[in-house]
Amino acid sequence: MPELPEVETIRRSLERFLLGQTVARVEVREPRLRQPVAPGFAQLLTGRTIQQTKRRGKYLLFGLDNQLVWLVHLGMTGRLIVDEANGVLVPHDHILVFLQNNRRLRYHDPRRFGLMAVGAERDLTARLGLGVEPLSSDLTVDYLWTKTQRSRRTIKDLLMDQGVIAGIGNIYASEILFRAGVWPFRPAETLGVEALGRIVRATKTVLREAIRCRGSSISDFRDGEGNPGSFQARLCVYDRAGLPCRRCRTPIQRETHGGRSAYWCPHCQR
Ligand SMILES: [Zn+2]
Repeated sequence: MPELPEVETIRRSLERFLLGQTVARVEVREPRLRQPVAPGFAQLLTGRTIQQTKRRGKYLLFGLDNQLVWLVHLGMTGRLIVDEANGVLVPHDHILVFLQNNRRLRYHDPRRFGLMAVGAERDLTARLGLGVEPLSSDLTVDYLWTKTQRSRRTIKDLLMDQGVIAGIGNIYASEILFRAGVWPFRPAETLGVEALGRIVRATKTVLREAIRCRGSSISDFRDGEGNPGSFQARLCVYDRAGLPCRRCRTPIQRETHGGRSAYWCPHCQR
């Protein structure tokens, strides 16, 4: 699943193709995404000029010339790819947005957990109930303290709660906690200010570094031009069960709960 660094990488790769472009035509070939694509979606987007590209958590927001935004969430397997307007289509290409420069944006999503909508930014984002942006000054030790006090949840679950911090999933939660030296199953309420400080710093460092590497291509992540990221080569714990810790050589542990695996070094993380 694309997380904040991957979504930011897609945004950056698409920006030069989209800014100032007018949508000539929209073709919804399969409306059954996580929520059905609204019947008026194509009409609202057609004829609009894209003036801005933004990201909020794992969501892409394309600002239109009528004050509305086009919101995209890639779900588990969604991809947005720029190609030629007459390019070949492959199975799972569900939505095509044709631009006036003879290019098109192709929304490809085998598992169809994505989301696509046009509306007023405030209405759309209010419904998402997103927490703070981790790379903004809103993520502070004080903020995290208010969220961890009296929370019996594990710190890993809390970091992945989109209503607390927007944009972190399994890969980056695992990496952040390794860098912070915190065991993923630690109950959030047991963490003191010093450990929370390490988590806040690790969050910003890991996400910035992953964006610089243009994301992690674990399974099939590609940016808007089809290029993979390179952060997977720098992962310290995620997807490294049984391999030696990069810091202390102890084998990395894995434990799976509800289909999600946690990875950690039993020596470096407490
Ligand atoms: Zn270690």
